[in-house]
Amino acid sequence: MRFENLDAQTLEQIGTPEAQAAARLLVQNQQVQHGYRSGDRLQIVVWDEEPFPVEVRIKDGQLTSMCSCSQVEGQEVCPHVLALLWSWVEEPGRFLDRAELKERLKKYSKKDLLEIILDLADRVPEVRGVLKEEGQELDEILESIDHLIDDVGTGNLEPAEAEDKLRRTQSWADRLAQAGQLADARVIYFYLLDNLLGLEERLKQEKLFSPTLKTDLFEEYCQLIYEDRHLEHDLVQQELEQLENREAVTRGDLDLSEVKQKFSGSG
Ligand SMILES: [Zn+2]
Repeated sequence: MRFENLDAQTLEQIGTPEAQAAARLLVQNQQVQHGYRSGDRLQIVVWDEEPFPVEVRIKDGQLTSMCSCSQVEGQEVCPHVLALLWSWVEEPGRFLDRAELKERLKKYSKKDLLEIILDLADRVPEVRGVLKEEGQELDEILESIDHLIDDVGTGNLEPAEAEDKLRRTQSWADRLAQAGQLADARVIYFYLLDNLLGLEERLKQEKLFSPTLKTDLFEEYCQLIYEDRHLEHDLVQQELEQLENREAVTRGDLDLSEVKQKFSGSG
């Protein structure tokens, strides 16, 4: 079968009547959000007291589903999976096909894209927020890192959620670097890394953040030191000394020897 062939009649045959009723309620109450479609896969987040990411695939003509809830008994389908399928049947346009959208946008001229973005900003308040974030100054970016770290430190933000936001900060830094502002980009990378390590020390949780994130930040930071021909030596010296005292470095998780060697060679 294909997703296009799925209709209300077929869907009604799936699952128990109780699960069906619960699913209809979830859809009616708009507890179903962020639908994505990619090839043979549909994904959505269903809010049922907590968010459940749900996925449905068609493999060899068979429908398979995944949901992390515990409301599934035996071979039955849970209300969340049914809610995904109902929102697909009722409003397939709500499922964004990112790959297809990306291909389409690639064909637009810069002028057309500008028009679209400005139009979005006029009509969707959230877009204004995103665009404002994009134009942040360095001190605002550093301040936003402080807030994030504080929120994780006080337990108001899950580390995994913070990582998503930190990854966004990282992409701002990358764009600064691409625009030739290597020093600003380096400062952001240093600030991210030093604050993450500092929080892990304070909370005595050396694995609070994923090792991949820390290694990525560290490697990019070093790379920016190597690339910058107008390196602010005193500042970098201070940064390296500060990192050297971090437990992750003394423990050997991050190895500063190469960057220190290249740095002193460049002075
Ligand atoms: Zn479920």
